[in-house]
Amino acid sequence: MPHALVLGAGIMGLSAAWGLSRAGWSVTVVEQDDLPNPRGASVDEHRLIRHAYGAQRGYMRMVDEAYAAWELLWADLGARHYVPTGVLALGDAAGGWLAESRAALSGDGHDFTDLDAAELESRFPMLRAAGVGDAFHMTRGGVLLARPVVAALAAHLARRGVTFRPARAREADPARAALVLEDGTTLGADLLVIAAGPWAPRFLPALEGRVTASRQIVVYLEAPAAQRAAWAAAPMLLDLSAAGGFYAVPPVAGTALKIGDHRFSLHGDPDGPREATPEEAEAILALAWPRLRGADGYRVLGARACFYDVEPQERFLLEPLGDRALVMSGFSGHGFKFGPLLGLAVGSEERRRRAAWAAGAEGVAPFMEPSHGSA
Ligand SMILES: Cc1cc2nc3c(=O)[nH]c(=O)nc-3n(C[C@H](O)[C@H](O)[C@H](O)COP(=O)(O)OP(=O)(O)OC[C@H]3O[C@@H](n4cnc5c(N)ncnc54)[C@H](O)[C@@H]3O)c2cc1C
Repeated sequence: MPHALVLGAGIMGLSAAWGLSRAGWSVTVVEQDDLPNPRGASVDEHRLIRHAYGAQRGYMRMVDEAYAAWELLWADLGARHYVPTGVLALGDAAGGWLAESRAALSGDGHDFTDLDAAELESRFPMLRAAGVGDAFHMTRGGVLLARPVVAALAAHLARRGVTFRPARAREADPARAALVLEDGTTLGADLLVIAAGPWAPRFLPALEGRVTASRQIVVYLEAPAAQRAAWAAAPMLLDLSAAGGFYAVPPVAGTALKIGDHRFSLHGDPDGPREATPEEAEAILALAWPRLRGADGYRVLGARACFYDVEPQERFLLEPLGDRALVMSGFSGHGFKFGPLLGLAVGSEERRRRAAWAAGAEGVAPFMEPSHGSA
């Protein structure tokens, strides 16, 4: 049986281990922290999946493949850690990301509904339409419950016989598909998959300049009593206003309402403290307050930092490193939804030929049959 070493037990490393294990490989996963790892990019209450992707048609199309991969994963896990919510996209003016998304969505026959200010406020009474120049709603899209996904996937892999090796890797030797651990032990395999999230550039110097760790702040809120019912039924909210947009994740499945911003900080040390400063939290809240009715009544429950691994064009790297290793990186704050799909690709014979597809290129044959069934 061929043997694979996977560095990193975030959604990418675990999904790669899942894909390889399903394809008959024996797999060892090396991870420096406990699982699920709260320092990893993958571990928070939620991650979003949606088709609205601006002009990035390649990724918009991959979302249907991603849904198909999630269906396979739910079947393997025996549970669905997903809440369909739909998507509400807002902008301060017509044009830009919303117009690009509409053009791409229409071209592929995806349904969405344009909303004017009156419709926006009557359908979503927790929002203020003042300053909103453009809006549309889609019924497809939802919230992946990230922490339970990672925990359940790790437990499933352990039951499948995947070995978890708690250790910090010091060096990778892609040519020999080997890792050197901090204690000097060398682990070797037939294939090495490096999925080290925001730590990857530090670990693989070849990524310096291509992938940048980026400290991002998220804030958890409790809505005022008068707005709670509206938030409980709310879609994910993507505000793409040029003046500084934000996203909001509704409080699904016992989680908190969460807000964050789309802009990349492009600085920070993933080994540094994860508490958000009051100033960092306030900067995120300042983006959201003008959009929220009764903003004074919201209670801040907490705020923390999480890291993106940013590629300049937000394109993923699923790239061979010689004949015996692959790197999964550059997920730029939008990789989680594609984790299981990319993992299945790593497990397949096509693993070395999927770089353009993973980078969101248009006109590339899909890796798997898309699923149009999930909400
Ligand atoms: C705030 C925020 C919001 C996001 N929102 C979305 C969203 O709505 N939708 C979406 O699709 N995506 C979203 N993303 C992006 C998505 O979460 C990431 O792309 C994805 O989780 C990356 O997974 P990963 O496995 O590459 O990284 P990680 O989860 O960081 O895993 C890497 C692992 O490697 C381990 N590691 C690193 N170096 C070593 C070493 N030397 N030795 C041993 N172990 C090591 C780390 O400990 C870590 O556990 C968001 C990300 C953030 C931070």
